[in-house]
Order: sequence, then structure tokens, then C-alpha cells
Amino acid sequence: MRNVDVIIVGASLAAAAAAKRLVDAGFETLILERLELPRHKICSGILSPRGYRFLLENFGPLPRAALHDPTWCRGVTFHFPSMVSMPMDFFGGTTPHLHRKYSDYWAIQRSGAEVHDQTSVVALSDKGTHVAVSARRQGGETVEYGARYVIGADGPSSVVRKAIYPQYDKQIPWFFVGQKFHDIIHCPLDHEYFHFWFHPRLGHYTWSHARDGRQIVGVGFKKGDSFHDRHRIVEAYLREKHDVQLQPAAPDHEGCAENFGPSLINRYVFGRGNMLLTGQSTGFLNMIGEGMSCALHSGAIAGEAVVESLCHNQPVQSVYRQMIASEVRRTSDQWNPLMIAFAKPHEADFPAALLALPREDRIKVLRDIWRFVVLYKEFNWGRQIMASSLARLFTGRYPPQRWL
Ligand SMILES: Cc1cc2nc3c(=O)[nH]c(=O)nc-3n(C[C@H](O)[C@H](O)[C@H](O)COP(=O)(O)OP(=O)(O)OC[C@H]3O[C@@H](n4cnc5c(N)ncnc54)[C@H](O)[C@@H]3O)c2cc1C
Repeated sequence: MRNVDVIIVGASLAAAAAAKRLVDAGFETLILERLELPRHKICSGILSPRGYRFLLENFGPLPRAALHDPTWCRGVTFHFPSMVSMPMDFFGGTTPHLHRKYSDYWAIQRSGAEVHDQTSVVALSDKGTHVAVSARRQGGETVEYGARYVIGADGPSSVVRKAIYPQYDKQIPWFFVGQKFHDIIHCPLDHEYFHFWFHPRLGHYTWSHARDGRQIVGVGFKKGDSFHDRHRIVEAYLREKHDVQLQPAAPDHEGCAENFGPSLINRYVFGRGNMLLTGQSTGFLNMIGEGMSCALHSGAIAGEAVVESLCHNQPVQSVYRQMIASEVRRTSDQWNPLMIAFAKPHEADFPAALLALPREDRIKVLRDIWRFVVLYKEFNWGRQIMASSLARLFTGRYPPQRWL
């Protein structure tokens, strides 16, 4: 049985950031990844400026292989049912369009940690002094590991989270997001922008953008609905309303389950005992489903918390919860109506873009946003968002008592 200081589950961006902190501090760090590396990851790959700065500062300039074509993204365009469109440029210029298969692998390699890929973690048990980890290698062989701490960087359907809170997955709403790839006949959507529709008839999350000569049409909805039906509706809408003419979808469509919600209502899951969670396994997700920047930053904080705990013999959970409060603030601020109205929590200027519209369009946009928000009414998040927003206003932070 192999024993190390820290095991990180999952070889993604949160893992790379955590590993970098641990390796730099001299701790033996092992990353276990269920897939063969470099591995595919479903993602639009639009990195926020803050995420880009993190990559540059921690891992250096990105290699060309880590980028899709177009290699850069200028910003986001919001589209509304009233046919108003609002392009918004990112603050500080363009950002990279990451090819997750290669960008993640590059970051993992640069972290300096040892990696065992094709090694799927199946069970974890916190023994107090260490965590026992069982994994299955491709081919079926079982491997046992031991670590002082485990960091779960294993995404929305986290096995580490399941080991700590077996009931959690049944208690939150789950969404499905799927995307299809089309050869382009004619597409007037500006390929330098990520396009997002605030349209309740199209679904909870509807997007499109260019990638490697094809157009992606993506749909997000409550789990249980039909991906193909949803996609057909969006494709027809884009054709009718935006004159987007596409070839039938290629066979390589893809989708996955998403734990959208915890960031909105300050209900993050940070772990228990010697097991920490980071990245999207905790629920970190920014506006428009941007999760890479908070994965990187929360990953680094998880790594720092473990370093702090190992160096100073501090209880890791309390160290982590103190340190992670800054990232909670940044992420939940993006969903906080008071911050949206009176501060600038996003990395593109929504209020300025709104004010630039003629008055009657502004009214249409606000009405359309309200109708879109009503789509989420069934999840009863409204009151929780308002309570968290007021706590933020009066105490300057989001209440940590709500975190698991
Ligand atoms: C369709 C779509 C589009 C998106 N577009 C964007 C975008 O444009 N910009 C953006 O910033 N974000 C986007 N996101 C969100 C972003 O992809 C995630 O928030 C981000 O990847 C989370 O990173 P992570 O490090 O937490 O985990 P993940 O990237 O989810 O990685 C988890 C890793 O853990 C591994 N793993 C899982 N289980 C096990 C196990 N049992 N044992 C070992 N390994 C395991 C997985 O194979 C994977 O490598 C998008 C998401 C989707 C689904």
C-alpha cells in the first residue's frame, strides 16, 4: 500500500492548483484520475480573465495545443426573447479559449505532482490519523492507498463528497447540459463572443459559440427532459430568429449532469475531517456556468489550507473554511442581486451594456430577465438568495454556518 502526504482525486484544474501549492511546499502529493491522460472534458473552455491570470502566474504561458480555434474570446453576448442583443467585452481584453483536454494536462504536469491515471477512486474512509483510499485500475485491479489528507477535486458528481455525505446528491436539484457540433452553412453570430440566451422557452441554459470550424449549440435543463428535443427547439429558434443555418449535428454530441445551485444560495460543501472538497465538487460555479476560475482559486486555497495544517498542526477544516471565505465572496457575489445592482461582481460590464441600450430596450431586457428568472422559481432559491445577500450587506460575508 502506498502512503503519501496528500492524495488529490481527479486531474483537473482545481487539482493542478492544489497540487502546485503542496508540491511547492515539499509535500508528497499523488493525483488519482479515473480516465487516461490527457483526458477529454466537456466544456466551452472560455476562461475568465481572472482564471487566465491565475494560469499565467502559476503555470506560465499557455502552449498553442491548449487552445481551440478561435484561440481567444472577446466577451459574452446576451440575447433576449424581445430580440435585443447585448455584447459585453471582458475587462482587460480577450481571454483564451481552452482546449480542456490539453490545458488541464499541461497544468497537471506543471504542478509537479505524481499522477496515476486510469485509476478510479471507489471508496474512502477517514481513520482519524489518515484516510484510506480504494481505487480501481483499468482492468479491474484494486489498489489501496493511504494519505494524511485527501482533496476531492473530482467535479460535480464527486465520489469524495458521496463518501462524506451519502445523501447529499439526492437532496439537490440536478441539471443536464448537452452540446451538439454542427458544420456551418451560414452563421451571423459573432464568433469572437460566447452567446447566451435568456429565454425561458429554450431552457435553463442555452448557448452557442464557434469552435474549430464548427458551431456548438448547447442546451441545459432540469434532469429528466429530452436532450434531443431540447436541442431541436434551440436549433430551430436560432435558424428562425438569428438566421443561423447549420448542417445536421455531427455524431459526437455529449452531455453531463451539473450541480448548479449551491453558489447561488451559499450552500457549499467543503468536506469533513481529513477530507476536503474543492472546485465544482463543492458547488463553486460563477455566472453563465463559468467554473474554471473558481476551480483554480479554490483548488489553490485547499492546497494552502493543507500546507498550513501540516506545517502548524492546525485542524484543517477550520483553516480551510477561514481561507475559502474570500472565494465564496467572489463567487456568490456574482449571483447577489444587490451586488449586481450596486457593485461590479462580473468580469464584463453588464450595467454599462444595459445603460448603452435605448430606454425601451432596457425595459424589454429587464422584463425578459425577470421572466427568465421565474423559470427557476420551483427551486425556492429566491428567499435564500435574499437572506444571503442581506447577510453579505450587513456582515460583509456569506454565513459559513450554511456550508457543509
Ligand atoms: C457544457 C459545459 C460547458 C462549460 N463551459 C465552461 C466555460 O466556458 N468556462 C468555464 O470556466 N467553465 C465552464 N464549464 C464548467 C467547468 O467545466 C467546470 O466548472 C470545471 O471544469 C470544474 O473543474 P474541477 O477542477 O472542479 O473539476 P472537473 O473539471 O469536473 O474535473 C474532475 C476530474 O475528476 C475526475 N474524476 C471524477 N471522478 C473520479 C474518480 N472517482 N476517481 C478519479 N478521478 C475522478 C474526472 O475524470 C475529471 O478529470 C462548463 C461545463 C460544462 C458541462
